Amino acid sequence: MMQIFTLHALKDNFVYVLAKNGEAAVIDPGEAAPVRKFLDHKRLKLKAILCTHHHQDHIGGVETLSRDGQIEVWASKADRERVPAITRIVEEGAALQLFGEDIRILEIPGHTLGQIAYYLPTADALFPGDTLFSGGCGRLFEGTPEQMFASLQKIKRLPASTRIYFGHEYTLRNLEFIKHELGQVPEDIFEYEQACKRKLHDGEPTSPTTLAQEIKINPFIYSGDVSEFRKWREARDLW
Ligand code: ZN
Ligand code: FE
Repeated sequence: MMQIFTLHALKDNFVYVLAKNGEAAVIDPGEAAPVRKFLDHKRLKLKAILCTHHHQDHIGGVETLSRDGQIEVWASKADRERVPAITRIVEEGAALQLFGEDIRILEIPGHTLGQIAYYLPTADALFPGDTLFSGGCGRLFEGTPEQMFASLQKIKRLPASTRIYFGHEYTLRNLEFIKHELGQVPEDIFEYEQACKRKLHDGEPTSPTTLAQEIKINPFIYSGDVSEFRKWREARDLW
């Protein structure tokens, strides 16, 4: 069974390590040092670096980590010129394996045009980079609201039990925004916020969340149509 570890990098980035039988893959290493330290500590051998998109806070450690030998670097076709040391361009629909387990690619443009998610059906886990956060979604730096809405709908079609390992610890701030915008505090939000605060107090990340949880509290994914989505996104940009 694949193990998933959550590391912190830079100000509020998450870096995820997938490990099985002493081998590891790292998702979105914004920095090399904390990854190196963790791999050494756990005696894991790095085999692959999986990039969700080209932003510096997600790829800052790629060049350094990829120097260590035969390490695969995965990224989307649109990011082939924007991610260093790429060895494999991954596309939606390709039958890929990581340490003997199926791994699927979802193309989810919006935050950037090359943004992809990695989905591990057996682990019930999704790594959407900066497309979906707990209580929020990424800013539209390159894509249109229509593209981002469609990308979130694609994620929404995964099993509700899917654990979502998102890119940044923005959860409390996102919940603040939702409460402000709704002008009240629904019970679901209140309970979820308390649970998140307890985790943070104990030094734990609020990641992962689940798709079921987000469909309950996150207006960016529960929005029923693109105009509703667009209103939330515009309000968040101005907040
Ligand atoms: Zn980003
Ligand atoms: Fe980011």
